[in-house]
Amino acid sequence: MPRYEFRCRACGDTFEVNRPMAEAGQPASCPQGHADTVKLLSTVAVTGRGGGPVGGGSAPAGGGCCGGACGC
Ligand SMILES: [Zn+2]
Repeated sequence: MPRYEFRCRACGDTFEVNRPMAEAGQPASCPQGHADTVKLLSTVAVTGRGGGPVGGGSAPAGGGCCGGACGC
């Protein structure tokens, strides 16, 4: 289940919510009960990479060969 990060504009706290993608756009209340929250950019699948450029050669790009770049 994707995890979404919210920030409360009332108390400044940040918190994470696990919810189905279908409910991603719904507002979330902060743990203190404030309703004035904003959704931050999702951090799903962004963390853990060393900041390498795309196509650095470490991971196959989706379908592997014949993506138009290898000429096979
Ligand atoms: Zn709050």
